[in-house]
Amino acid sequence: MKTNAEQADEFDVHEVPAREPLRFVVHKHQATQLHYDLRLELDGVLKSWAIPKGPSLEPSDKRLAMAVDDHPLDYRDFEDVIPGGEYGGGTVMIWDEGTFLALNETDREGSEEAFRNGLERGQFTFIVAGEKLKGEFALIRFARAGEKTWLLVKKRDRFASTKDVTEQDRSVRSGRSMEEIRDGSWA
Ligand code: MN
Repeated sequence: MKTNAEQADEFDVHEVPAREPLRFVVHKHQATQLHYDLRLELDGVLKSWAIPKGPSLEPSDKRLAMAVDDHPLDYRDFEDVIPGGEYGGGTVMIWDEGTFLALNETDREGSEEAFRNGLERGQFTFIVAGEKLKGEFALIRFARAGEKTWLLVKKRDRFASTKDVTEQDRSVRSGRSMEEIRDGSWA
């Protein structure tokens, strides 16, 4: 059995994976309230959680993550302005993106199986290889607060950090700031 750090080491978003991993995106979304949307691929859709404070690399932070509607897989490419008046109206940035696998799984099939089970059980641990988010995370259902309420927690590994990762505030896809996306400019 490999350690988590070894698994994370082998798993680099810039390499062509031997077997296709699953994809994730984190949208930064300036709607009525600023929040981040974590979207993880499963069975051809993006399972989604809205995280008011955004992700943290500090394991003692437990970030509220509200389960929201699945989105189509293509939505991972969306970076633009949702018109005011529409649901979620506001600016959407591709804040982070990359790939992920379930902990101790080495391929898409095993990871999807673990993810499905994790959604049932209310606990899913996964290894992400993004630009900003890396290493092991867990989504844990916080049933006391309702079926849709989860916590996103960084596990302690060499990617854990007390630095506020949300201070990295440009798009990983375009390099743009929220203001540049809002104004439709390509700086
Ligand atoms: Mn949103």
